[in-house]
Amino acid sequence: MKNKVIVIGGGPAGMMAAGVAAQNGADVLLFEKNEKTGRKLLITGKGRCNITNFCDNDEFISNIPTNPRFMYSAINAFSTYDTVAFFEDLGVATKVERGNRVFPVSDKAMDVCDAMRSFVLNSGAKIINENVKALVIKDGDLKGVKTESNTYYSDSVIIATGGKSYPKTGSTGDGYIFAKSAGHTVNKPTPSLVPLVSDDDFCKELQGLALKNVAVNVVDEITKKEIYSDFGEMLFTHFGLSGPTILSASAHMRDMSPLRYSVHIDLKPALDRETLDKRLLKDFSKFINKDIVNALVELMPKSLIPVLLNLCGIDPHTKCNSITVKQRDAIVDTLKNLTVTIKGFRPIDEAIITCGGVCVNEIDPKTMRSKITPNLYYAGEVIDVDAYTGGFNLQIAFSTGYLAGINASQS
Ligand SMILES: Cc1cc2nc3c(=O)[nH]c(=O)nc-3n(C[C@H](O)[C@H](O)[C@H](O)COP(=O)(O)OP(=O)(O)OC[C@H]3O[C@@H](n4cnc5c(N)ncnc54)[C@H](O)[C@@H]3O)c2cc1C
Repeated sequence: MKNKVIVIGGGPAGMMAAGVAAQNGADVLLFEKNEKTGRKLLITGKGRCNITNFCDNDEFISNIPTNPRFMYSAINAFSTYDTVAFFEDLGVATKVERGNRVFPVSDKAMDVCDAMRSFVLNSGAKIINENVKALVIKDGDLKGVKTESNTYYSDSVIIATGGKSYPKTGSTGDGYIFAKSAGHTVNKPTPSLVPLVSDDDFCKELQGLALKNVAVNVVDEITKKEIYSDFGEMLFTHFGLSGPTILSASAHMRDMSPLRYSVHIDLKPALDRETLDKRLLKDFSKFINKDIVNALVELMPKSLIPVLLNLCGIDPHTKCNSITVKQRDAIVDTLKNLTVTIKGFRPIDEAIITCGGVCVNEIDPKTMRSKITPNLYYAGEVIDVDAYTGGFNLQIAFSTGYLAGINASQS
């Protein structure tokens, strides 16, 4: 007789688990509460889906700040190279971009999503569009799941319901409730890869300003140590800061007590102080009889000029010919080190990733099987593991989904 496996959640982790379990001979039902599987997958990588990172297992592990050791067996069982081969086999040609990020050649997350859905259906697993409301557990034995309209029985259940971020995609944290009902500890879900909030007035004034090619450093104001540095794009918003470098930085900011961290932006990383000063002198002599507010247009975005002059305490109507060395120094200081004090994170709804989740000490890392409730398995973001940007989070979903699928099918 075939083993019956129920998978809750049709995201990348659940689809991987369902397809692998069915290929391995199990009778599989995959429950997805949305009409379509993989709604979050569709919006990954700005609609391009950064599938994985083309790196070895050690590098993969070094990109996981929370519980990296839990991932050793899973990444050994299904590596980043296996992910690439998996999608190539499904007909999704891939390419490697900056930072070893792997994308579909088509640049369409939809292709990845469709391929995974076909993988599930071709494996023989069935997709049922029902919302799972609870696990059915009798006298400590897991019997199956209850949906809004039915009860389904199985030999094992895989929880792959994702985290709590972007809840409109279906990831509303249901798995945490199921895990608790099965006796598991759930570490508090908090946002990661999330925009940062600042009360500094100038952020609001600069809202909408997107900067390219800036250097971003984050300093822990308690230890005075630099905890993150990056180069690339960022964005000022009405609440503070966002954009790729800021989201990546947020994953390194683990204790968000108010005012713990400051972000330092080098707006001219290609120019050292001396060169930048020479450049200022050149611009000031070109616009010698003009107000300084009109003399900086070739050096920086227009909206930044009044903010910068205000931070430097310089009257915008000061003529270029009367700018002092001290004032020039202040401009160079601010351009090389625009400092934003961070008050906190934006809410978890806006986070790319949920930090926290089902405690890894209660899951066998070799099988993804619960150490508390027999025949219960976990896969994906519902587990308390999270990674930096670069395709590592989807790889966590694929690797844990693979292990859970294989082992549940033999359960
Ligand atoms: C905007 C954005 C961009 C991202 N880009 C990338 C990227 O490019 N690369 C990368 O590696 N990572 C990226 N991520 C992270 C990545 O999407 C997640 O880590 C990944 O989707 C987690 O997979 P999962 O299967 O565990 O959970 P999810 O993808 O969240 O899937 C969980 C599924 O379970 C379903 N479900 C939940 N509860 C129930 C229930 N009770 N009954 C039935 N079904 C249920 C949900 O509807 C959902 O479909 C991005 C995330 C966001 C928000």
